[in-house]
Amino acid sequence: MLPFNQLSFWEKRSYFNGVDIAIIGAGIVGMTTALNLKKRKPILKILVIERGYLPSGASTKNAGFACFGSPSELKSDLARQTETEVWDTLSMRYEGLKKLFELVSPETMGYKPCGSWDLLTDIKPISEDFLNYLNGHLKEISGENRVYFQDHTIIENFGFQGFDLAYKNRLEGSIETDLLMDALYAQCIQRGVKFLFNCEVLSIENLDTSSEIDTQHGTLKAERFVFCTNGFAAQLLNLDVEPGRAQVLVTRPLENLRFQGTFHFDEGYYYFRNVGNRVLLGGGRNKFKAEETTYEQQPTEIVQQHLLEVLQTNILPHQTFEIQDQWAGTLGLGLSKTPIIESFGENAYIGVRMGGMGIAIGAMVAEKLSNLIMNNE
Ligand SMILES: Cc1cc2nc3c(=O)[nH]c(=O)nc-3n(C[C@H](O)[C@H](O)[C@H](O)COP(=O)(O)OP(=O)(O)OC[C@H]3O[C@@H](n4cnc5c(N)ncnc54)[C@H](O)[C@@H]3O)c2cc1C
Repeated sequence: MLPFNQLSFWEKRSYFNGVDIAIIGAGIVGMTTALNLKKRKPILKILVIERGYLPSGASTKNAGFACFGSPSELKSDLARQTETEVWDTLSMRYEGLKKLFELVSPETMGYKPCGSWDLLTDIKPISEDFLNYLNGHLKEISGENRVYFQDHTIIENFGFQGFDLAYKNRLEGSIETDLLMDALYAQCIQRGVKFLFNCEVLSIENLDTSSEIDTQHGTLKAERFVFCTNGFAAQLLNLDVEPGRAQVLVTRPLENLRFQGTFHFDEGYYYFRNVGNRVLLGGGRNKFKAEETTYEQQPTEIVQQHLLEVLQTNILPHQTFEIQDQWAGTLGLGLSKTPIIESFGENAYIGVRMGGMGIAIGAMVAEKLSNLIMNNE
């Protein structure tokens, strides 16, 4: 690959001269930030810089749950974080999903308002009082009554094993991950956002004042830099962000698949859904925490074997299936589940640490980042 300084006059003019904003990371947050900024000020020259030949973090690898919180996960969050943090973050996810639908229509991203179910054993039930408490907060956030309720029929109807109780969230749904990403990319191109793929940012000095970053192909100048590198943020910046490898598998089409919808269990650590008549299952990171705290993206034998066992035992008991694909992506995690949205001086902006619900929260993070940037204009 040629270094930047050996490119043609045309290439330099088109891509590198007079860049107003360079966004690092072509995931949901990077692209929705680019779109927000272009909508507000179309003349901005925006360059998105992406390390992979495709976006290579979480946004093209996720499970496609348009979700904001299951009862058991929220219960566990409330035991670790303040109530304000938990409800503010949930509200950002709920509002973020609405913002995402304003950018890309639900139909375009294959959204299905199928609801979701949190599956539990009767050793750890969710009390009526806790459901009422959740519904009270959801009413304040969404204006909707009785978002969560116990569903007495699905476990038997859908043929699951090893669960006794199911709690439905009627406002969650599923999307088709590739359709969302394709639509965001197409809109960016349509609005004149430029992309540099296969270009890793190596370092930035003096974050708050620098107008240069080092990449594998040379130095790049811009008025401002926006870091949307999520799980990889700590590779460049001193931030509380840990990478979490999340592994997934998907079956080949099944005859007589008994269920449709999105499902979670074990406080959200496991998730499965139908994709047409296939089953997609991911999770288990909590059982392999040390191994899965890594930037590596190869799926591993041990986690994939575990997922296969879960699929056979709990989700498709007595059914034969074949696996079509197995993969992994990188989550951005930290002590808190609240994203980091910050500015450093007037030159650098950061929107990272989306956790496991970046489809919902990503567009809200982009909106807040864009506000910060435009307020500094
Ligand atoms: C397997 C899996 C399942 C998931 N399931 C769901 C789900 O069902 N629902 C949900 O809401 N969320 C889910 N998530 C989480 C969700 O996908 C993420 O929260 C969201 O995609 C984060 O978007 P992002 O743009 O912040 O980060 P990313 O999509 O990770 O984008 C960051 C980008 O920055 C690039 N980058 C990093 N460092 C550099 C560098 N130095 N130079 C240049 N480029 C760089 C990366 O290559 C990457 O493309 C899942 C994640 C995974 C991995």
